[in-house]
Amino acid sequence: MTMVKAISSDETFQEWLSHADLKTLEKFFKKKKVDFKRELVSAVETVQGVDKFVVIYFEKDVKAALAGKQSQRTEQVNSKDIERTRFFDFGGKQVSVESWKGDKEVPMYQTIKEVKCAKCGGQGSVKCKSCGGAGKVACGTCDGKAKITCKACKGTKAVELEIEILDGEGKKYRAKRRVPCGECHAVGSYNCPDCSATGKVRCKSCDSSGVSSCDACKGTGTMYEYAVQPVPFIMSKKDAEVYYSKDVEKFIDKQSVEEMLNARDIQGIVITNPDDLKENVLKPQLNYWTKDADKVCNDAKKDYKDYVKKSVVKEGTKILVLPAIQLACKGVSGKDFQVFGIGVEGNFIVLDARFD
Ligand SMILES: [Zn+2]
Ligand SMILES: [Zn+2]
Ligand SMILES: [Zn+2]
Ligand SMILES: [Zn+2]
Repeated sequence: MTMVKAISSDETFQEWLSHADLKTLEKFFKKKKVDFKRELVSAVETVQGVDKFVVIYFEKDVKAALAGKQSQRTEQVNSKDIERTRFFDFGGKQVSVESWKGDKEVPMYQTIKEVKCAKCGGQGSVKCKSCGGAGKVACGTCDGKAKITCKACKGTKAVELEIEILDGEGKKYRAKRRVPCGECHAVGSYNCPDCSATGKVRCKSCDSSGVSSCDACKGTGTMYEYAVQPVPFIMSKKDAEVYYSKDVEKFIDKQSVEEMLNARDIQGIVITNPDDLKENVLKPQLNYWTKDADKVCNDAKKDYKDYVKKSVVKEGTKILVLPAIQLACKGVSGKDFQVFGIGVEGNFIVLDARFD
């Protein structure tokens, strides 16, 4: 295990001083009655405190993540759902991947075309399920038989009468006699009044039409087909994630640091396994460790693994762990500012804060 050579505070300060804006330097450092020169600014007098921290950087692979999903798919919806769908029309223009908030693939307005509904063959209607298309169903009163069995004779066409007879001694006896049924006029049944003796009544589901509205196309016979295609992203820029302690984030924003690191080939500790983002692996190479470093490592590790799952980061993508230094500075005027160096000896970036 080799140790990386962290930048010194002096190297950081000199690099910053040689590029700092002259007018602003004068504002912070000009002494009365002395002509101001950049070289007159002293590191020893200016730097009030030095803190070390750790910066973690890895590149995202937006291009590959999108390329993997270039397949377009088509969707079919009815007239109701097409109103609920959000369509896009980029008009041949590309959009920046950084500013895009939506899905990576979206329904494209220009691809909408009308197609016949497959379920109803474009008719808009299907056979009524209740009557099978006949428009009529069996009568419930007669159970479809058209006739109702006579209740009085139970279909036997005759009823039995009992006649009381007296003999000469006044003794009573009864005699049974079958007579034709008067209720059904000796037919045994009568015509069903509810279906006019047809055994069928009109189908209520389809109002006798024999068809019902197709629920796939909502009765229109037409479906709308459209393509879901990748958003046309501009993908020339590098895209990376940067991590460092919240205390430093107060002074320098992540986007600036990311852009500077994207533009340069800064060297540091290179690991490819996110589980190596921990003290016992990194401390021997950095030769220092801070309380914040643990948190920064954990955040980076969690995100890296998440990104790999979502294929935003290719598995095995290098993770760069960079030594970094913060110089708390004070000008002759008494005004505070901060200088930050990120990287290794001879290969680092410098930023400042509150120097304006
Ligand atoms: Zn249909
Ligand atoms: Zn009868
Ligand atoms: Zn009937
Ligand atoms: Zn019907």
